[in-house]
Amino acid sequence: MMEEKILTKHINTLNCHTLDFYLANGGYNSLKKAFEIGSDAIIEEVKKSNLRGRGGAGFPTGMKWSFMPKNPVDAKGNPKPKYLVCNADEGEPGTFKDRLIMSKNPHSLIEGMVIAAKAVGACRGYIYIRGEFFKEARILQSAIDDARKKGFLGKDILGSKMDFELFVYRGAGAYICGEESALLNSLEGKRGEPRLKPPFPAQVGAFGMPTCVNNVETFAVVPYILEHGGPKFASLGTEKSGGTRLFCVSGQVERPGIYELSMRTTLRELIDIAGGVRGGKKLKAVIPGGASAPMLTATEIDIPMCFDAMMKAGTMAGSGGAIVMSEDVCIVEATSILLRFYEHESCGQCSQCREGSHWLARMFVRIEAGKGTHKDLEMIERICSNMAGQTICAFADAVTGPVLSAVRKFRSEFEDHVRQRRCPQKIASRTIDAMEIDRGRAHV
Ligand code: SF4
Repeated sequence: MMEEKILTKHINTLNCHTLDFYLANGGYNSLKKAFEIGSDAIIEEVKKSNLRGRGGAGFPTGMKWSFMPKNPVDAKGNPKPKYLVCNADEGEPGTFKDRLIMSKNPHSLIEGMVIAAKAVGACRGYIYIRGEFFKEARILQSAIDDARKKGFLGKDILGSKMDFELFVYRGAGAYICGEESALLNSLEGKRGEPRLKPPFPAQVGAFGMPTCVNNVETFAVVPYILEHGGPKFASLGTEKSGGTRLFCVSGQVERPGIYELSMRTTLRELIDIAGGVRGGKKLKAVIPGGASAPMLTATEIDIPMCFDAMMKAGTMAGSGGAIVMSEDVCIVEATSILLRFYEHESCGQCSQCREGSHWLARMFVRIEAGKGTHKDLEMIERICSNMAGQTICAFADAVTGPVLSAVRKFRSEFEDHVRQRRCPQKIASRTIDAMEIDRGRAHV
């Protein structure tokens, strides 16, 4: 299958991250076009592209940009500055695409952010990057410095009279800081805890100012949209989810890694492109959109990896990270590993999430050890129903998605454990290990 490549076209070329390389391949031409057509036309083009947020929520990007107030003023009638924030806190297990963009194609992100700043009227931008991404932060900073020297950032960009400064801000590596309001708190130097919404960031964002937050991949495809037009980008995907996407495939496939493919690609095709299930084994389950997406069974994977189709199938496209599990994987153990992660990462503000994730994790350890009861299986359902939709942010829903799907779709495995017939398939931990080992590898 020949797919148009947008972000990974030159990824295997030496020095593809440099400004010289980017300029030699048409880089920053879209920014010049953005200054010619103006803010409203940029937003219109992004709306036509059907670009939806690549961080996980899939919200239409053009619509999000149009929510930014035109001329906000404070209580005294003084104009308020507007900010742009790039969410580069990629912490979802099974997702490792933004690191690739930042290390191999940083100028597409910078150019996309300057175009977005022009569209929404922002004067300052922050790239909030996960603390452990040392190399990516270094490459980004160097790319920002180079762009500033050439006049693509800073004051009076390309003689347009627009000023825009861009900063790299390193977080401390908390999963919850991928949630936009927790990220904003962390950016302000506070604890990384989600805020109650409303108000939404477009009204009260970073430092109390109107702020637009988007994911790395979302910003990075904007130069392509301006260069080729929104309709062209839209045509690469499905009716409501435009473009290609960087899909991460981890777990038990022959070639784990990152694949840029159309949003029309089905989950089965994605697994086949990644070489199929490792060792010719049968597929048991897939978590299709990063660890917080409900699991799908082997018979449920003939659906496009777009937001709507995934939602219709009872799961979500999320961050585009597919975790593949073969027939050898013990679903109880795999879910237990995920729960231990979530228990650790709950910020603790809501008792349903703080206590619920801890309770679930303890129950799963018990069930895994063959010491669970049928009552535990019923209790899992009850705990989950008291968590989902009851909390400040969607973290609790993210915990219950994979848990409930595992218990409902693989009930017999849980029953086996409850009957103290421990599952002999003890390789789930290797599913997770493989995600670590194969991070950052691109197949293009
Ligand atoms: Fe924190 Fe969990 Fe509440 Fe989100 S749902 S605010 S992570 S305690």
